Amino acid sequence: MAVIGGGYAGMAAAVTLAERGVPVTVFESAPVAGGRARRVRTQGHELDNGQHILAGAYSELLRLMRRVGVPDNAVLRLPFELRYADGFALRALWLPAPLGLLGGLLAARRIPLAERFAAVRFMRALRRPEFRIAPDCTVEALLARHRQDGRIGHYVWQPLCVSALNTPPRQASARVFARVLRDSLAGVPGASDLLLPRVDLSRLFPEHAAGYLQANGGELRTGCTVRQVMPDLAVDGERFARIVLAVGPHQLSPFAALVGALPAFDYQPIHTCYLQYAAGVKLPFPMLGLASGLVQWAFDRGALLGEKGRLACVISAQGDHQQMAQDEIAATCHRELALALGRLPDPLWHQVIAEKRATIACTPGLRHPGPRTATAGLFLAGDYTDPEYPPTLEAAVRSGVRAARLALETA
Ligand SMILES: Cc1cc2nc3c(=O)[nH]c(=O)nc-3n(C[C@H](O)[C@H](O)[C@H](O)COP(=O)(O)OP(=O)(O)OC[C@H]3O[C@@H](n4cnc5c(N)ncnc54)[C@H](O)[C@@H]3O)c2cc1C
Repeated sequence: MAVIGGGYAGMAAAVTLAERGVPVTVFESAPVAGGRARRVRTQGHELDNGQHILAGAYSELLRLMRRVGVPDNAVLRLPFELRYADGFALRALWLPAPLGLLGGLLAARRIPLAERFAAVRFMRALRRPEFRIAPDCTVEALLARHRQDGRIGHYVWQPLCVSALNTPPRQASARVFARVLRDSLAGVPGASDLLLPRVDLSRLFPEHAAGYLQANGGELRTGCTVRQVMPDLAVDGERFARIVLAVGPHQLSPFAALVGALPAFDYQPIHTCYLQYAAGVKLPFPMLGLASGLVQWAFDRGALLGEKGRLACVISAQGDHQQMAQDEIAATCHRELALALGRLPDPLWHQVIAEKRATIACTPGLRHPGPRTATAGLFLAGDYTDPEYPPTLEAAVRSGVRAARLALETA
């Protein structure tokens, strides 16, 4: 069988096929696997094409990481905590889930008491099976309805929405957001944990997956762009029994006739600004929030990956920064960090990576195509196809597993 696209979705599909003893060939355009979550070399520096974070709720990705032999220490697992440079912090208390988080909300002193109690009611409502958001509304409207649009919205819900859905609250789907909160913050023990990668994103899963494929009679062909798939399932002239098409949603045009009609997607960007300082510069916590400027989260790559003095600033979703030059973005990130941390030396170098189409916009009423296509034997995978999750690594992996299982069932 063949998989086109060696991102997290494609590699998850390939591992699922290999687990069943099916030899699989993965075609990947780039020189390394990982897709939107991959290692890049730019101006002599090895970086991730965007800083990523995982959640304890990413059950399928974590299962497949274990399956292909990724060591546990490839991620730093922290109990849920939002810590900001201005002193605000929300921590889960040491109580069984979800009591720990409810306790943490009640203890969050910088939030007015009425908002804290409303937050506990909001979280409890999310856990009720009859909790429905119909018709689908925006996150902004949901927060207003539950009186969560004050300080708690500013420090907790709005940043979580932008991080998880990569869509501003006024446009984001409340239904998808509620599902994320239910599965993570109000989910099983450990689901709300933050998992910060300690290795680059190609090593985190795709390269181990490639090793697993090879050990099971398959192969990953990097630097190999597929130009054409025929209705008889020939990939650039090579025939396969089944194909999983796991390219990004904006990369489907060469295959449009075989795939059939798809909904039109809007996209949202993510900018990651790397600032390399002298080796002694570090953050007080590996992931620090900056609540009121351009930078949403800063990550200490020294503490996480041993890249001493390197900070990664994340700016998710759309905004005025899209009109700014990269040097201006970097200067703004430096200024905001200096203000938050106290004196900072000038960075030795900076690099901004702008992913214009980082993910599809996760808006109310969004239709997901699912794995079936207009062509027998050709299945779709990719973060944009998953009906449950916002476009994330977990959505990508779930979609890959689902497409591969369907390919096996119909073989
Ligand atoms: C900057 C950034 C930050 C993000 N942060 C997070 C985060 O913190 N947490 C999180 O969970 N998610 C995050 N995401 C989202 C996450 O990266 C994506 O949801 C996920 O990587 C999508 O995987 P995929 O396999 O569906 O698609 P892709 O990663 O796009 O994979 C598609 C692959 O297909 C290949 N391809 C395309 N056309 C062809 C062809 N014709 N022939 C061969 N190969 C082809 C591409 O090269 C690519 O490797 C972030 C995304 C970005 C861009």
